Amino acid sequence: MFQPTGPHLSLPTASSVIDAVRDPTSVVFNLDGYQVLAACDLPLGGRRVSAVANSVEAACPDCGVVSTRVHQRTRQKVKDLGVGGKDIELVIIKPRFLCAEAACARRTFTQVTDQLPFRARCTARLKAAAVEAVLDEGMPIWRTCARYQLGWATINTAVTADALTIPAPDMVPVRALGIDEHRFARAKWFKHPETAQWCRVEPWMSTFVDADTGHILGVVDGRSSANITRWLKQRSQAWLEQLQVVAIDPSSAFRNAVRQVLPAVEISVDHWHVVRLGNQMLTEVRQRVTREVLGRRGRKEDSVWAHRMLLLRAGDRLTDAGLHRLEQVFDDEDYEQVAAAWAVKERLRALLAARDIPAVQNARIDFEMAVAAADMAETDKLAATVAKWWTEIKVFVRTQVTNARTESANTGIKQIKRTGRGFRNQKNYQSRILGTSVRQTRRRRRIPHQQGLHAQR
Ligand SMILES: [Zn+2]
Repeated sequence: MFQPTGPHLSLPTASSVIDAVRDPTSVVFNLDGYQVLAACDLPLGGRRVSAVANSVEAACPDCGVVSTRVHQRTRQKVKDLGVGGKDIELVIIKPRFLCAEAACARRTFTQVTDQLPFRARCTARLKAAAVEAVLDEGMPIWRTCARYQLGWATINTAVTADALTIPAPDMVPVRALGIDEHRFARAKWFKHPETAQWCRVEPWMSTFVDADTGHILGVVDGRSSANITRWLKQRSQAWLEQLQVVAIDPSSAFRNAVRQVLPAVEISVDHWHVVRLGNQMLTEVRQRVTREVLGRRGRKEDSVWAHRMLLLRAGDRLTDAGLHRLEQVFDDEDYEQVAAAWAVKERLRALLAARDIPAVQNARIDFEMAVAAADMAETDKLAATVAKWWTEIKVFVRTQVTNARTESANTGIKQIKRTGRGFRNQKNYQSRILGTSVRQTRRRRRIPHQQGLHAQR
């Protein structure tokens, strides 16, 4: 059976523990509270390590009376991290003490250490490594199970427990809050039990992020005003009062929720979403005009279709060759509406690139002139949206607070969903998102905090 590595196999005595110089094997193995007794290679690979608890006394967990009376020594297999590239089969031997207090209801108890808490079947360091693999490396749990020889439920419980150590959002100082939505799973169709009609359900989630650091503060179901309001109302008054700006997508539901709970806070609309509306408008115009001119959808031999991506690119960053190709499209009289729509889109981009209020007001005049010249339903609709969000656009220009970090958090969330092959349990999904985010934020804490928010006012 055991091929002992060293000559001494003695169990610890009071004097040997007090001397407290660990033998080299125990130092290398480094399991607190245990000393390595023997190690051997197993015939099918791997190693078996026997370690013995070095406590000679312990306090009863119920009455606290210290006992030195050993009732028996128990031998137990526990799982542990591999050492030197080999899997370990760890056998621990620990004393079961008799409680020294006659009046105590508990008769016996065993030693507990940080690495091997009460009833643990695997070491804390093994669990920590598994949690790290899931949350830091984005490894799916099923693969982590295989690597660390642990059960799915064990790892999932450890990951969820790690999420519970996340600081409450109220403890995180936040100056700028980002609110963003993302779809948590594919849209599903359900047959309504009463009306027998099929209804489409889109499982949306909304994330609350520190817009400066990208730290996810919370995740809630849905994207309605009520869901946002509920989360905000759960925050402490002090936390709400420190908020200066909230960055949102151009969503009326988000705006209403923030207005309701935080009437004094400024709302900044995310400029990328506004640019995207401009690009959508241009695409709609291109498709409509192509249908009108050719009586069919665009094909690759049509220059306006071939250059559809060029149209959406930033006009001021086009190469000369790119500009030349666009001019060729615009020279065609049939496509003058596309040219007008492109001009509107570029004026919108210039407007959002303004860095102070006078500049953005001038840029809006240019934008409105381009809209008037274009004189199309699509461009009028875009101008109406800009008018509706004008206050929030000005806040963006002045503060430059955007949802960029919220968006990158959402990319991280989608990555989590991909490695998890779609989550069916929403609680697991949320704990994974929060756990991953908080560890990322801890790693990049050194990011300097943006200062001078109102410098340009
Ligand atoms: Zn006791």
